[in-house]
Amino acid sequence: MLKFDQLHKFLFSEYGVRGEIVTLNQSYTQVLEAYEYPPFIQLLIGELMAATSLLTATLKFEGDIALQLQSQQGPVKYVVVNGTNTQHLRAIARWDETQALPDTLMEAFPNGTLAITITPNKGERYQGIVALDKPTLAECIEQYFQHSEQLPTQVLLHTSQANNAHFAGGMLLQVLPASSDNTDTTDSGFEHVTTLAATLTKDELFSLPAEQVLYRLFNQERVEVFPALPVIFKCTCSKQRSANALASIAKAELLEIIEEEGAVKIDCQYCHQQYQFDAIDVELIHQGTYSSQEQPLQ
Ligand SMILES: [Zn+2]
Repeated sequence: MLKFDQLHKFLFSEYGVRGEIVTLNQSYTQVLEAYEYPPFIQLLIGELMAATSLLTATLKFEGDIALQLQSQQGPVKYVVVNGTNTQHLRAIARWDETQALPDTLMEAFPNGTLAITITPNKGERYQGIVALDKPTLAECIEQYFQHSEQLPTQVLLHTSQANNAHFAGGMLLQVLPASSDNTDTTDSGFEHVTTLAATLTKDELFSLPAEQVLYRLFNQERVEVFPALPVIFKCTCSKQRSANALASIAKAELLEIIEEEGAVKIDCQYCHQQYQFDAIDVELIHQGTYSSQEQPLQ
């Protein structure tokens, strides 16, 4: 059976080029089910999720990567996808719901940027920003790698929505850092495999197992394929985290909200889960003894 929500890494050791291929179905569908997104935003979320998975797989430490498309001027304020080194993805978007959205990246984000933020669990946060001045997201990400890491990189992204089934996926090929000095041999090897990879079609990506896709593209090459990593939709929100956030708001203010609305409600912007807190919760939060595990009986 064809398996989705998997990422495979692969390696052309003779060319000093590494690769990754990912396809998403359930994880992407779960994100789309959490909120009613217009078609163009759905497509962007799919491409960003695939791209984030590909980029997160390049992390050599525990942490996460956020890919954020943003513009101060356009109808879409931002689309963000977070991914962790364990391939947990989540997404969020904000746009002007009163107008029809264009269907190109540059019209949706005039003078927009792609910000890639890498946050290690231990260590300094790093952010790289590139202009959204290319027709496709894949090209903007290639530009990012060219600027930030000077590593020749090819990114291919596809999405497919048919009969209520949502698929997103992509491939990344990148010159290995250690061999990037060795320009002559590396460049020709990279050029060779990226020319082959560029023939990848959406149909192949979403209808064949990753190993077969790689075989079709690279059957003349020696390519080592590593075991699959599962990719899942997972939000990092929790009732406890929401409670921790409430601790910094004055108790009187929270009690006033409960008086007026019955409860303090916190909506997670990523998964649209709602957490509710009553007056007892607020009391415990401000005593510093609140624990979401020990809910008072209703
Ligand atoms: Zn959440």
